Amino acid sequence: MTKDISLKAACADSFYYPQEWAPSRGSLDQFQRRRGYEHHFGKQRTKNLNKGVLLIRFEMPFTVQCLRCEHYIGQGTRYNADKKKVGMYFSTPLYEFAMHCGNIVSPEKSADGSAHCNQRFVIRTDPKNDDYELSEGLRRKMESWDHKDSETLELPDPETRRRMQNDPMFRVEKTQRDLQKEKDEKERLADLQDLQDDREDAYAWNCVLRKAHRLHRKEEQRREEEERLRPKPNFAVPLASPCEEDSAEAKAVAFRTDHDKIEVAVRRVALRAQPVLRHRPDSKAVLVAELVAKRKRLLQHSMVELAMRKRPRG
Ligand SMILES: [Zn+2]
Repeated sequence: MTKDISLKAACADSFYYPQEWAPSRGSLDQFQRRRGYEHHFGKQRTKNLNKGVLLIRFEMPFTVQCLRCEHYIGQGTRYNADKKKVGMYFSTPLYEFAMHCGNIVSPEKSADGSAHCNQRFVIRTDPKNDDYELSEGLRRKMESWDHKDSETLELPDPETRRRMQNDPMFRVEKTQRDLQKEKDEKERLADLQDLQDDREDAYAWNCVLRKAHRLHRKEEQRREEEERLRPKPNFAVPLASPCEEDSAEAKAVAFRTDHDKIEVAVRRVALRAQPVLRHRPDSKAVLVAELVAKRKRLLQHSMVELAMRKRPRG
């Protein structure tokens, strides 16, 4: 299978020489004609030769779009095309290539209801404009780019070319302008070349760079060492230098003493300093006596209240 495909491809590219052929048998075309074929391309490709049609492999010269399925066909896509001579432009023959779109589409979209689009493409050679003419079924995909982006020379557009051909004054002016432009560009190029030559001494430049880098590194090391040897500060915030005004203000402030607070604190300290266990039995007795006295007071108070309520009003 693979062998057949590669053979087919070789035949299509007309690089195929049959095994029986030898240089002593003449040209490939003569050999095939003697074997009964009308052409060295073989029977399949020459079956319409009597109508002036030869089957060839056609390569799409630029990106195009099919008008039926709107599928883009890239430059270089190959087709089996019917090649036919359709006229002459002076002594140059005009050829027409006819082929069919091979894109797979739904049957409703197809030209003949099959799985392929099958739109008929017709392309003609156009020697007048050094171009191809798209006659039927397809259109060219317009691509534009800036010559500066692609870093190529800017060619004069067709209009300028036409004016240059017809108008000698315009041609002279354009040529003069181009010459001046070229001269400027050359001067600029020479300046750039000089600059490049100045920088040519790689060794010296390397030395300069290394020296600068070495100095920078030494300075950094010295700073790090200084940082390491410096005693650690007491505060995270750096202190401002002392000032006469601030010290005078600080001296002017007189702090008042809270004597009551101090007395309370002294008493507390004294109480805390006393031994806890020594007073324990006495404190219990005092507590009991206090409780008894409180009860007596409450009893007296309630009795007085009762007497007040029993007394008649008025
Ligand atoms: Zn198509």
